[in-house]
Amino acid sequence: MARYIGAVCRHCRREGLKLFLKGDRCFTDKCAIEKRAFPPGAHGSSFRHKQSEYGSQLREKQKVKRIYGVLEKQFRRTLTEAARRKGLTGENLLMLLEKRLDNVVYRMGFAASRNEARQIVRHGHILLNGKKASIPSIQVNLNDTVSVRDKSRKHPQILSALEAARRKGTTKWVEVDLNEFTGKMMSDPKRDDLTLPIQEQLIVELYSR
Ligand code: SF4
Repeated sequence: MARYIGAVCRHCRREGLKLFLKGDRCFTDKCAIEKRAFPPGAHGSSFRHKQSEYGSQLREKQKVKRIYGVLEKQFRRTLTEAARRKGLTGENLLMLLEKRLDNVVYRMGFAASRNEARQIVRHGHILLNGKKASIPSIQVNLNDTVSVRDKSRKHPQILSALEAARRKGTTKWVEVDLNEFTGKMMSDPKRDDLTLPIQEQLIVELYSR
């Protein structure tokens, strides 16, 4: 499956805010946006540009794709599914992205970032309801259990992520037993649970052009 393998800090600098793509590093003074809070590229520091309506819509879409590490084809497919469901398409889109297995693994604290979560899912370290699940885009449903496979419980990346999760805590719509390497989805995520500034209606407007 295609994925972006370039430098991810560029994404934060381009969007002008921390997207938290690198785990613990994002909370230290090594964070690139702390040192260079301007867009990447040769003319980044002198970048002055009034954004058009289309430009703002495009930036919002890029921001969300980057946060969740989803490429265009999959993003468009998720948006189509969001539009098919009852309620606001923009909110449905964000909730579908939140319920992806890689995001849930990250939210449960088994990985330090969504990129890392995607990697540990693809490498077969994660079980969904007791069965191996190696597709990061699988949707996790209410009361589903996500756990780390027995053989993978000494994996250094997972242990270090759990250590950080003990310090920082996990999101409120999952219940996690960090000692048992197991978590359960207790309720559906809500729009208010997302703290990063996202204007999802701009994305819907972009695709309705
Ligand atoms: Fe973004 Fe994290 Fe890189 Fe900072 S360290 S620029 S928050 S990915």
